[in-house]
Amino acid sequence: MLRPLLLSAIALATLAACQREAAPPAEPAAPQTAVAPAASTHAFDPAIRAEDFADLVKTLSSDEFEGRGPGSPGEDKTVDYIKAQFERIGLKPGNGDSYFQTVPMTETTADESTSLKIDANGKPYDLKFGTDMVMGTRTGKSEVKIDGSDLVFVGYGVNAPEQKWNDYAGLDVKGKTVVMFVNDPGFHSKDESLFEGKRMTYYGRWTYKFEEAARQGAAAAIIVHDTEGASYGWDVVRGSWSGAQFDLRAADDPTPRLPAQGWITADVAKRLFADAGLDLAAEYKAANKRGFKAKPLNAKLSLDLKSKVTEKQSRNVIGVMPGSARPDEAIVYMAHWDHLGKHPEEAGDNIYNGAIDNATGVAGIIEVAGAFAAQQPKPQRSVVFLAVTLEESGLLGSKYYVAHPTIPLDKTVAVVNIDAMSVAGKTHDMTVVGFGSSELEDVLKPIADKQGRKLHAETHPEAGGFFRSDHFNFAKAGVPALYVDGGNDLVEGGVAAGEAAGKDYGDNRYHKPADEYDAATWKLDGTMDDLTAVYEVGRELSGSDKWPNWYAGNAFKAARDKMMQGK
Ligand SMILES: [Zn+2]
Repeated sequence: MLRPLLLSAIALATLAACQREAAPPAEPAAPQTAVAPAASTHAFDPAIRAEDFADLVKTLSSDEFEGRGPGSPGEDKTVDYIKAQFERIGLKPGNGDSYFQTVPMTETTADESTSLKIDANGKPYDLKFGTDMVMGTRTGKSEVKIDGSDLVFVGYGVNAPEQKWNDYAGLDVKGKTVVMFVNDPGFHSKDESLFEGKRMTYYGRWTYKFEEAARQGAAAAIIVHDTEGASYGWDVVRGSWSGAQFDLRAADDPTPRLPAQGWITADVAKRLFADAGLDLAAEYKAANKRGFKAKPLNAKLSLDLKSKVTEKQSRNVIGVMPGSARPDEAIVYMAHWDHLGKHPEEAGDNIYNGAIDNATGVAGIIEVAGAFAAQQPKPQRSVVFLAVTLEESGLLGSKYYVAHPTIPLDKTVAVVNIDAMSVAGKTHDMTVVGFGSSELEDVLKPIADKQGRKLHAETHPEAGGFFRSDHFNFAKAGVPALYVDGGNDLVEGGVAAGEAAGKDYGDNRYHKPADEYDAATWKLDGTMDDLTAVYEVGRELSGSDKWPNWYAGNAFKAARDKMMQGK
């Protein structure tokens, strides 16, 4: 995940360095007998309480849990421990008679000796993996062959009905290769009236672009890299596309997939466009004007992509508190349990404990579950507690749950995601990542007011933080999602201290073995405020018959409206 507090404190250049979006899960260990999770000697209180929270985080992030790598012995300990906590609280199994949901996944490693051949107006290009391009397939096929596919430049590759923007208007790209820019039309034009200007929208994400190209029936899609638009350099693209790539099995994912997808460097694009009859610099001006029309490039692509494909699996943990009046309707609290595991090849401390990221989130939903269990009157709607796996590998556990929900999505009122809580103390504010998205913010606002806290957006909305944690999969499907974080403006020390704390975490602990529980420096009073706020949002929703929606103009509203039609 990408912490908003962290984003507020560090330069975007530094951000790029930690932006590997799909970290590898730990290698699965040899089969072994399940180990009973560490028993707590501590008596838990049903109220949201710092001591209980600290105890949960301490256990989940202990060396014994080995950094909670999916497929490792740490997975067994983690999921058993979460299940035991759900049982202690009195939650029912959330997936039939089980607390577990198996998440099958594929691991695809492209043969990096593959070259991408393009014939541009008679001029041959033989693009090398890593230096000139990166390429991969999500089909689960060990060989993908494309022979002489026509290239079409489709601007930003965006089809956004609510923005009245369609780069594919009147175009048939079946069997063709689409070439497009990263980010969205508002970014490069700096035009606030287009796609929220500099702020990254859903349509700016590279994942969206490939999915849209697949819906349009393209054979392949290529994104032209630029450092500003991506918010990271080519090294990050190369790093995250080299080696094993993780995904759900195609059969478990309702989203259509491209046979081949990848990126080319800005330098390759400049030469290729020129040889194929277009001026790249001029297209950066043309593609962000309303009425832009896709243009054929006088070029053909050929590719013989071989990959090694293996299947693995991990588990989500699901507990439910059935509603007293409308048990078929649910509020979902979610937190990813996985982290980066143990790396024996590294000298020194090589256990990535992931105390903040995301033992705090898991402990947080357990604490919230306790509060619901003690609540009088009981919640009328059901409350689901979902600890998902494989977030660090590409938000896969939540993606699988959304494709196989245990309570249907049109009966799911909202999802509240907790990913990496602040432990810097009480604040005068609260960060809503993707601020201005949904009516859930109207539920949160009076609760934050009562705590004397102001709501605001994350400091760097151009980095697209809203699209980088598990709730995003619910949002894409249409379910309103709330993703909040502790604020920046600390009661002790103000904004300067808040930013310093964020920078310290970003520089010294984020995705490092040093992300450990620290009783001496953690200030949990602010964390308890955050948990109380998200609990009260769910308490409000679970006792009501309201269905908050996305705000008008939001990209996810159409999907929600469609699923709720006639209800
Ligand atoms: Zn995280």
